[in-house]
Amino acid sequence: MTYSIALIPGDGIGPDVVREAVEVLDAVADKADHTFNYAELLAGGCAIDQTGEPLPPETLEAAKECDAVLLGAVGGPQWETLPGHLRPERALLGLRAGLGVYANLRPAALLPQLKAACPVKDEVLAASNHEGKAAFDLLIVRELTGGLYFGERGRTPDGNAAYDTELYSKAEIERVLRAGYRAAAGRRKKLCVVDKANVLESSRLWREVAAVVSKDYPDIETTYMYVDNCAMQLIRGPGQFDVIVTSNLFGDILSDEASVLTGSIGMLASASLGDPVSGKTMGLYEPIHGSAPDIAGKDLANPLATILSAAMLLRHSFGLEQEAREIEAAVNRVLDAGYRTKDIASRGGDAAAEKIVGTREMGQRVLDALAGKL
Ligand code: NAD
Repeated sequence: MTYSIALIPGDGIGPDVVREAVEVLDAVADKADHTFNYAELLAGGCAIDQTGEPLPPETLEAAKECDAVLLGAVGGPQWETLPGHLRPERALLGLRAGLGVYANLRPAALLPQLKAACPVKDEVLAASNHEGKAAFDLLIVRELTGGLYFGERGRTPDGNAAYDTELYSKAEIERVLRAGYRAAAGRRKKLCVVDKANVLESSRLWREVAAVVSKDYPDIETTYMYVDNCAMQLIRGPGQFDVIVTSNLFGDILSDEASVLTGSIGMLASASLGDPVSGKTMGLYEPIHGSAPDIAGKDLANPLATILSAAMLLRHSFGLEQEAREIEAAVNRVLDAGYRTKDIASRGGDAAAEKIVGTREMGQRVLDALAGKL
């Protein structure tokens, strides 16, 4: 089969990690006799430098023509003083809205090989795990194209006050909830709606819609939790969660918190999905980390989150489940063999068994594992 993938490397470590993911995709294509055609596109700070805008219209048009999009990260200190509408991060919002990818799936699981990098004690993890293990496996489904990040914002005429608006329609809430229920159906069949319904009217609407939509999924247990409690429960008992569905703002914050529990933000992949059209699902796939300017160009970035994002791309947009699993298994074997980038090296744990490698070597080890050499 032939597929087209838009590549948006972006800024900072973005190009480094996307390069490794592309090599992995190419290896999978060779093995399974698929053809992946790439269109490399500009967005973020590099686009501002070359075209004057963070998301040139050609980029969005070309991305829409492709079957899926793989993105690195955008942003950096050199663009931080630009006005809001010209900041690199605007490109992300424009891509998400322009591609109509409203459901952001952010899996966070603790891999046994990285347990030492998790800041929570084993006994705390085990207390909430359904099998009593020091582990967790949860999925945050974040609404991505509405809410506070897209609502009306501004300053008062005297400039002494500013506002942002949280606005959600019933239809926006319903479609992301359904994406959550579809995901929960293939997992442990638990869905928790996270909101601030004790204070916010928009959250109360989320609960009303969830009460109706949940009736269509009687075999899935639906619960509700306030976001402040959820922030605490993620640390006290991450094992209690299966699927969390929440708004754009809350999902942004909670998923960064969850990433720390897995050992490093450098491990977490994400998929942003739209509605399936004629059997095809447009998706934007990216690691959840940013452009990490502090380590850019130093061969220190962990490429695994982007490689795992490429696996999600194969699964969700191309339906290549077997190939996606092969990539995930290869990453597991590399970790089993003790290879670690600095961010996931254990602190005082089993350091003797670990081999610290850079971005390039980590990518190469995944290729070795795919080729059966590891
Ligand atoms: P960040 O995620 O870039 O970095 C946070 C910390 O995690 C840093 O110490 C960094 O070195 C480390 N880190 C991140 N990714 C890593 C990886 N793959 N391997 C090893 N270590 C890694 O967040 P930040 O510092 O808050 O933001 C930096 C820039 O990125 C800002 O301009 C921000 O706006 C932008 N940003 C972009 C995205 C995106 O493109 N999706 C997301 C978040 C932040």
